[in-house]
Amino acid sequence: MSRITKRGKEIPSFIVMDVLERAHELEKQGRNIIHLEIGEPDFKTPRCICDAAQEAMDKGETHYTHSLGITELREAISEHYDKKYGISVDPSQIVVTSGTSPALFMIFASLLEQDDEIIMADPHYPCYPNFARFMGARPIFVDTSEEDGFQLKARDIKAKVGPKTRAVLINSPANPTGNLLSEKRMRNIADLGIPVISDEIYHGLVYGQRERSILEFTENAFVLNGFSKIYAMTGWRLGYIIAPRDFMHPLQKVHQNFFISASSISQWAGVAALKNAESDVEKMKETYDKRRRYMTGRLKDLGFGLSVEPRGAFYILVNAKHLSSSSYELAFDILEKAGVGVTPGIDFGRNAEGYLRFSYANSLDNIKEGLNRLEAYLNKS
Ligand code: PMP
Repeated sequence: MSRITKRGKEIPSFIVMDVLERAHELEKQGRNIIHLEIGEPDFKTPRCICDAAQEAMDKGETHYTHSLGITELREAISEHYDKKYGISVDPSQIVVTSGTSPALFMIFASLLEQDDEIIMADPHYPCYPNFARFMGARPIFVDTSEEDGFQLKARDIKAKVGPKTRAVLINSPANPTGNLLSEKRMRNIADLGIPVISDEIYHGLVYGQRERSILEFTENAFVLNGFSKIYAMTGWRLGYIIAPRDFMHPLQKVHQNFFISASSISQWAGVAALKNAESDVEKMKETYDKRRRYMTGRLKDLGFGLSVEPRGAFYILVNAKHLSSSSYELAFDILEKAGVGVTPGIDFGRNAEGYLRFSYANSLDNIKEGLNRLEAYLNKS
């Protein structure tokens, strides 16, 4: 009899996928569902990016690339960090990956031994602790508070540091809250002297504020970034790591063994994204911002708690404790009765129990319809 490993058995599923799968079942039965649970841009990938991919295929750029990625893309990423943040990143410190998820896996694989600890906020992106545990390491949570926009403070991190601490993980703008870490907080976190892993995947999707890269404050950091969100390229599977020089060879070996290289076609598309898609991003951003303002106002009017206005990504995490103490039951009840998909806070950690995450990666018409349905649901219950 074959035996399934403990780690294979124990890795939790993504609860948002449970909601989505139930929503699809209801759709198959003929129900119309408004999806406000999905963390994926609803836009098509901009034309100039698709054209570059087509051109790459026509030219025969359809083979493995260098394990670190094509030079043109690594140089374009380096220019991007210089232009946007004024940071000098040598292309030799960049590994191009098949999305941010493998990048996270690779960093954890190079940094964490059995029983090592990694500090992160609660709430957090669900995969963070799952990846850490999969590696045999221990996620250490810092409870953050709604009034504070669920943002980490250096003081609270310091209280959790011990001999086994290997890194602190930050994510600004954050999933699930849409909030940003202030410059001061980032600086204080950097000054703790612990390696910082900074998930910068939502950079570029920021409304009326400025996001900061951890590399503006310390070199003792690993940046994760990707093309999925800002360029609406989730299906292209493209991301990257910027790492301290001494980690580059280990990361390269992990990449060679597990992934060989990122998709050649996607990498050429990525070059076009960084060089030519600025105006497309601006348009998407304006649209997100309109939806953000509308959704924020409506959710407050519907009685949900929101202490800090979210200024990034495409999420709003609201307090729904007045409706139920189980966000899981509430989300499924809203799905079944109102036909609206939302993500239960518990997916993002114990500290987000009683909250719901709404995504505005959907058209304004759908958002309006979804919130109208929610209003009718609330009036009935
Ligand atoms: N980090 C965060 C915070 C995310 O929300 C996501 C996607 N939902 C990822 C990483 C992974 O993105 P990808 O693998 O598509 O680059």
